[in-house]
Amino acid sequence: MQCAHWHRLPLDLAREARSKAPGGHLDRAVRCHLSPHEGDEHYGFLTELDEYGAALWLRWYGRGEMEVVTLPDCPALGTGRNRDGCCLFAGHIQQHTWEGAQKTASRTS
Ligand SMILES: [Zn+2]
Ligand SMILES: [Zn+2]
Repeated sequence: MQCAHWHRLPLDLAREARSKAPGGHLDRAVRCHLSPHEGDEHYGFLTELDEYGAALWLRWYGRGEMEVVTLPDCPALGTGRNRDGCCLFAGHIQQHTWEGAQKTASRTS
């Protein structure tokens, strides 16, 4: 399960993201990466910043404010065979991404 909120990446913030990550691929719209959550603060993944162990995220609020933020990668590793890394940022709320994946896998098997 994943939060159902999407947000368009406005041109000015796309420019800001590109100046911080010139080689990164940017999508025109991002989906909140968190699992379904309370509150109206959403985080959409923009692109990696390899050299810093960090990534660019679009943070937006239900009332319309948004900003590009640089957040360190979440250091948590999954307990499964692959020890997948979490695709979120350090200090995120809700589950790690591999927790959701593991639950989905066990539900379908
Ligand atoms: Zn969300
Ligand atoms: Zn995590």
